[in-house]
Amino acid sequence: METKHYNLTTSQKVPLEGDLGGWGSFPKITAQVADCNTICILTHSNPDGDAMGSSLAWCNILLQLGKNVRVIIPNNCPDYLQWLLGYKTHTLIFDKNKAEATEFIGQSDLFFCLDFNTFSRIEELETLVKQTEKPLLLIDHHPNPAECFSVMVTNEKSSSTCELVYRTIQGCGYEKYITTEIAEALYVGIITDTGNFAHSSSRPEVYHVVADLLAYNIHKNDIHDQLFNVFSFNRMKLLGTMLKDQFVYLPEYHTTYMYITKENQKRFNFQVGDSEGFVNMPLAIKDVVFCALFTEYDNLVKVSFRSKFDFPANEFSQEFFKGGGHLNAAGGKMYCSLKKAISIFTNGLPKYKKLLDETKERTAEL
Ligand code: 5GP
Ligand code: MN
Repeated sequence: METKHYNLTTSQKVPLEGDLGGWGSFPKITAQVADCNTICILTHSNPDGDAMGSSLAWCNILLQLGKNVRVIIPNNCPDYLQWLLGYKTHTLIFDKNKAEATEFIGQSDLFFCLDFNTFSRIEELETLVKQTEKPLLLIDHHPNPAECFSVMVTNEKSSSTCELVYRTIQGCGYEKYITTEIAEALYVGIITDTGNFAHSSSRPEVYHVVADLLAYNIHKNDIHDQLFNVFSFNRMKLLGTMLKDQFVYLPEYHTTYMYITKENQKRFNFQVGDSEGFVNMPLAIKDVVFCALFTEYDNLVKVSFRSKFDFPANEFSQEFFKGGGHLNAAGGKMYCSLKKAISIFTNGLPKYKKLLDETKERTAEL
């Protein structure tokens, strides 16, 4: 497909607010990229739209600069992201192909860490990456980055890592390499991380970036269809079963929790990404300000949290599940039984009761 290049000026003029690395980082990135041949892009486990979109967009830019690039993901991403350019050709899935991924890490001159800023989020890859003496560069929008990065583009006010990758592309002078497919990958991260512009998207700058991306003739409506209208029958039945039997409301805390057992996963042929979006659903209930989703694995429970207004889902996650994330979307994991993880959660709620009540008051004011 022929790619049209536009004269994009809108978002260029808007500086990164609350910038921790920002524009000053871009000349350093350009210099380091120019100076190396093999580049490894890493993103977090259970990669979502922002993780895959940002990594593959950046990968495709670096490929056009003539670099040898791979995106290494700890485990596979859902089917509905596998159409992104470079997934089939330039992505290595660590838990499926450890030998090749390990070899590539060993050869790499430079590492870009995208959409995560603490190494626990890349699971087993952590040990390998920590051994490298090559520079680690960060492009990410989570709070409190680890201290090991030599260059950082990070802003927790940004909607997504994709927004920051777009700014990095501009800042480094790589705009001429943006194609329709790259713009589509960036758009995927912005819409998935903002829940279709429902949250994390109040800054005008997000829309400047989206306006720029639309100018690359991206197939906006098709992308929405590819991402959101892709349930299998089993996935819908799993949702129904969970809402019917495994969904608990704790009105005194304006909180709900739900859970997916190993048995559910077997019964409904659970695929990676099948529970995507489920955790957000209870927030549609007027009186709910905080909710959790527990997913049971062998000796491990993964927890996702969502909240409204200022209730700090990330603090709660950090305090009880050694996790973290954003104010309204956080997660963590615990090596214990499902029952134990749920009791840690319910036992943690009284400490936050005052904050939960205050947050609920705010919903009443609206
Ligand atoms: P999700 O619930 O979609 O898996 O994750 C929501 C957000 O929580 C992610 O964007 C990430 O910021 C954070 N998060 C999820 N799992 C973990 C975890 O195990 N550790 C930390 N530190 N953050 C997590
Ligand atoms: Mn993200």
